[in-house]
Amino acid sequence: MKSLFLLMLIIVFVNCNTSTNKTAAPGKYVVKNVSVIPMDSDKVLLQQDVFIADGVITYVGNAGTQEADKDALVIDGTGKYLIPGFAEMHAHVPGTDDTASAKKVLELYVLNGVTTIRGMLGHPQHLVLRDEIKNGSFIGPRFYAGAPGLSGGSVKSVKDADSLVRKYKKDGYDFLKLLPGLSLENFNVIAKTAKETGIPFAGHVSSDVGVWNAIAAGYASIDHLDGFVEAIVPGIEKIPEDKRGLFGLYIADKADLKLADTLLQSLQQNNIWVVPTQALAERWFTPAKSAEDFAKEPEMVYMDEKTLNGWVQSKKNIMAAPLYDSAKVMALIELRKKLIKACIDNNVAIVAGSDAPQVFDVPGFSLHQELKYMADAGLTPYQVLQTATANVGKYFNDPGMGVVKKGTVADLVLLSSNPLEDISHTTGIAGVFSGTHWLSKQAIDERLEQLKGKIKQ
Ligand SMILES: [Zn+2]
Repeated sequence: MKSLFLLMLIIVFVNCNTSTNKTAAPGKYVVKNVSVIPMDSDKVLLQQDVFIADGVITYVGNAGTQEADKDALVIDGTGKYLIPGFAEMHAHVPGTDDTASAKKVLELYVLNGVTTIRGMLGHPQHLVLRDEIKNGSFIGPRFYAGAPGLSGGSVKSVKDADSLVRKYKKDGYDFLKLLPGLSLENFNVIAKTAKETGIPFAGHVSSDVGVWNAIAAGYASIDHLDGFVEAIVPGIEKIPEDKRGLFGLYIADKADLKLADTLLQSLQQNNIWVVPTQALAERWFTPAKSAEDFAKEPEMVYMDEKTLNGWVQSKKNIMAAPLYDSAKVMALIELRKKLIKACIDNNVAIVAGSDAPQVFDVPGFSLHQELKYMADAGLTPYQVLQTATANVGKYFNDPGMGVVKKGTVADLVLLSSNPLEDISHTTGIAGVFSGTHWLSKQAIDERLEQLKGKIKQ
């Protein structure tokens, strides 16, 4: 009799401590007895209770010291780690009027703990999706929507430059995305009008502009380390653009890292953020792993066949280019790692971005790849985690995001192991809070299963 009573007690206890509480009020959660990684410093707060209401953290404190609301959904955090949700700062969202595939991509980010994205190529529908996520009508990450790209193709005159910047600002985009091919003259007008109208600009550095003009003009972020290799190759002015290769692919062996000091100083002094997208460079360019082998990686099952075939072809194309040289490509990959480490050592601020969905970068999954590549470059796990959490709050000038404390947004990831010990632990996701939503491990797994083969670029 006594043991039956005990058993019943245990059943009641277990039910209260899992996410099966059907009577819980929407948007109210308590994570009990969890280790919190607040990301405002390199520490872990053991045995904490965290209360959440309507997408905001309302309490963080020692477990058991404060009574939670009776109608909150209780999640047992014992043995788990709670960390701010991650940001993919170089994300892509399909840009078509049919938003079904965009919604799947957006959801896949969240299922991987990516609760914030910067959309790096705009479409009018993105503005609608951004608002729908904000009002909670479907699950997606906090969406900073870049405008349609400004490139040599879309900006043919100073008049185009001025009018497009004004249009995109008026349309409501959060920032301008710059692509290659801009003339210096047109770029200068973009930068001037952007300043005047108050819209940030970010992305690629056109060859005609060069990294020094980019820094002086005040890019919000330079992505892909674009222009960095060119800036440290002596005699670069004598090498025609078509002999340099994407991101300096054909000239990295000529770079002199000692020349990077001035570059790093200028980036730091002018508060230019850097988004390395090392995952894109390594996975697309490396001769060390074939396209077919990348296509067999576990997360590729989420991509639809046509997109995945396109990626295989894209890697094959770059490796078949007449100037592609394995030794030079390896030199580029190593040089990029050194530049990433040098950025951190010189207080140049980095935010994480992998450029998904692009060549073998699956939305959400590839952000975790990017974190590993940055650890490979020599960053500590804490430094790496900062690039996807606390630094993101700083980038957006928003102290209410990227850290775990009372009053910040409750975009959070529950992890099974401590990522400060090993960065690959960011993939051990036990649950995600995004906006007012809670996604349990079971809910995540079920949805991932449904998305197999359905993600398009
Ligand atoms: Zn991109």
